[in-house]
Amino acid sequence: MKICVLPGDGIGPEIIEQAVRVLKALDLKLEMEEGLLGGCAIDAVKAPFPEATQKLAKDADAVLMGAVGGPAWDNNPRELRPERGLLRIRKDLELFANLRPAILYPELANASTLKPDVVAGLDILIVRELTGDVYFGQPRGIHVDPTSGERVGINTMIYAESEIRRIARVAFEAARKRNKRVCSIDKMNVLECTQLWRDVVIETASDYPDIELSHMLVDNAAMQLVKAPKQFDVLLTGNMFGDILSDEASMLTGSIGMLPSASLDENNKGLYEPSHGSAPDIAGQGLANPLATILSAAMMLRYTFEMEDQAVRIEDAVKKVLARGYRTVDIFEPGTQKVGTKAMGDAVLAALG
Ligand code: NAD
Repeated sequence: MKICVLPGDGIGPEIIEQAVRVLKALDLKLEMEEGLLGGCAIDAVKAPFPEATQKLAKDADAVLMGAVGGPAWDNNPRELRPERGLLRIRKDLELFANLRPAILYPELANASTLKPDVVAGLDILIVRELTGDVYFGQPRGIHVDPTSGERVGINTMIYAESEIRRIARVAFEAARKRNKRVCSIDKMNVLECTQLWRDVVIETASDYPDIELSHMLVDNAAMQLVKAPKQFDVLLTGNMFGDILSDEASMLTGSIGMLPSASLDENNKGLYEPSHGSAPDIAGQGLANPLATILSAAMMLRYTFEMEDQAVRIEDAVKKVLARGYRTVDIFEPGTQKVGTKAMGDAVLAALG
């Protein structure tokens, strides 16, 4: 079980350090090797995704990443920007399935802008297709219409049934590890592409008789997510709808430092990272919340290494830490105990049991 560890920039190294400590404490014989990605790689070898890192990532079973980017590289030419490294690694590893849980621990219910009773205990998983749809479809571009002489912008929403089937399977499999319900999102009333989406999802569901499948139009889903988000278990979406809905869902929790993510390929090899960025404003100060990264490590154990019990062990430890009142600055509220990055890591280790 080989893990490629890419701390990245800003708070990346600080939060990754804590996740690595937690993984080591589980005593699972995981092999971990560090590489450079993002701004630190540009500084060291003038490439955001150096060859050595490409090899490390290809050879590994999973990649655990911190975050990349920062103001030091913002004015670089595009090919020498940290984000370029991130896009390249996702593409190179063919990560088509993005899994983003939005969980609101009862202790953090006040962090949300929604009423606590609407969101307390929220636990949903968005499964978003990541390599197709209108973001990649051809033709695309802006051209001048020869008849009218005005500019026309064009993008193409396109999905092949094989692409729909493989992401639907990821959602059904994920639901099996949760509450066994999938709600598939489309806009079949006006978009033929998403009519095919619905048809193929229904066909695929016949292989999963234990999973309850429902469908919802994307506009209604956007409303339902703020009205009654706890009705959902797994939400299955295409690339564009998922882009929008996953940000909406993550903000229901109000705490960016708590949200993990996974991006998987056909064989459940994955890139695991917190949903937040490199937080340059607090980097190097020992203030960052490491829990999103620690929870990303738990997702890695669940989805790539199929160690559900170990994933739950980490998640339970995080719950205990919150119940014991430990809070980093991003989730602090009066009456709780403010701790830094390392002390939060210590608390998780102590709660591992
Ligand atoms: P950000 O997520 O880095 O920060 C937004 C705010 O949330 C900041 O105030 C930050 O201090 C806070 N925050 C984020 N993570 C935190 C944590 N773990 N603990 C405590 N507070 C936390 O977003 P941004 O400021 O828009 O972007 C900063 C840099 O990160 C940019 O260079 C951007 O390109 C990059 N970025 C990288 C990724 C990635 O690596 N996947 C994702 C998003 C942004």
